[in-house]
Amino acid sequence: MKLSDRVGKIKPSPTLAVSAKAKEMASQGIDVISFGAGEPDFDTPNNIRDKAVEAIREGFTRYTPPGGIVELKEAIRNKFLNDNGLNYDLSQIIINCGAKHTLYNIAQVLFNSGDEVIIPAPYWVSYPDIVTLADAKPVIVETSDKQGFVMSPDDFKKAITPKTKAVIINSPSNPTGALYSEENLISIARIAHEQEIIVISDEIYEKLIYDGKKFAGIISLMPEIKDQAVIVNGVSKTYAMTGWRIGYAAGPPEIIGAMTKIQSQSTSNPNSIAQKAAIEALSGPQDSVNTMVKEFVKRRDYMVNELNKIDGVSCLKPEGAFYLFPNFSGIYGKSYQEKTISNSLELSEFLLDNARVAAVPGVAFGADDFIRLSFALSMQNIQEGIKRIKEALDTL
Ligand code: PMP
Ligand code: GLU
Repeated sequence: MKLSDRVGKIKPSPTLAVSAKAKEMASQGIDVISFGAGEPDFDTPNNIRDKAVEAIREGFTRYTPPGGIVELKEAIRNKFLNDNGLNYDLSQIIINCGAKHTLYNIAQVLFNSGDEVIIPAPYWVSYPDIVTLADAKPVIVETSDKQGFVMSPDDFKKAITPKTKAVIINSPSNPTGALYSEENLISIARIAHEQEIIVISDEIYEKLIYDGKKFAGIISLMPEIKDQAVIVNGVSKTYAMTGWRIGYAAGPPEIIGAMTKIQSQSTSNPNSIAQKAAIEALSGPQDSVNTMVKEFVKRRDYMVNELNKIDGVSCLKPEGAFYLFPNFSGIYGKSYQEKTISNSLELSEFLLDNARVAAVPGVAFGADDFIRLSFALSMQNIQEGIKRIKEALDTL
């Protein structure tokens, strides 16, 4: 069967693939510890779940307007006002079926063939493919652990060409947990403003920030770019609601209107029940977020400490999100059973086969010296998993 050229240009999400493989192994009775998770291991808080049950009981089970219900848009408007000091009209807000879908729709309404989209690496795995699916070209700007995994304004400038249409900023970042400094964001915003480049700011890890650091969004820092910027956010990570599929965006009415049109001809509305639950997530008590953050800090600190004790491994302390992105290149060149580990894919295979530990190879994020280890798993599993990694590496 001849499929479209479009689908031939992309790969399945490697992050979802690793998690699926680990779950499959576990279901076959193999005792695997998965550091692959891209979702909190906590349950959705009860107050949020109760609202979903209530919505079902009340029969809130029909189509809603394609861009989402007014009540949830109001909750999102209040969130942007209170948390980010940004004032959006309801016509500037859309609700989608998860933030991945938000990004997909943004790409579909903004990009044409030949447009270039600047993406700092390490990047979240779906950015290049979402850009490619819209026929545009991802332009990757490398960053290193030495520079804290953030794109410098100079490197951003160098990547710009007359075809540059947009830049994607993700702070805190998946996979590195890096948080862009305010100065850096302001400089990037200034360049984008001068060169009329659209800024797509993926702020999905906004609330998962550690050590008393504060979130600063690029648009709040430089409101001059508000008319050429879209914020992407969602409830998946902050409220442990990955399965509910609610993401949202705020931006210029033309962009939001066009996204609503696309949505009306593709998915229709995001799930009606999940929309009701999302209102409670955004407007109800927020203490579950603090509980999660406190637990994540303990796990992060333990893992960073233990990983840095291993010869050939070095790991920065992430400032946000729930991933570590350790550099394992010191292990490359070592051998086992007549095989040599020379890249992140081979390392991940080695860890899965020999340590029964699942991790996402860095190459999926555009950085082959690294692997991604999530800390969204219990402390007990983390301790056992790190022990297994050490023991397996000792055999090399
Ligand atoms: N952006 C980033 C950086 C992410 O890590 C994720 C996680 N999948 C998403 C967007 C999409 O999240 P979701 O579709 O679950 O809302
Ligand atoms: N964002 C998460 C991750 O990076 C979830 C998986 C996905 O949507 O790709 O693992």
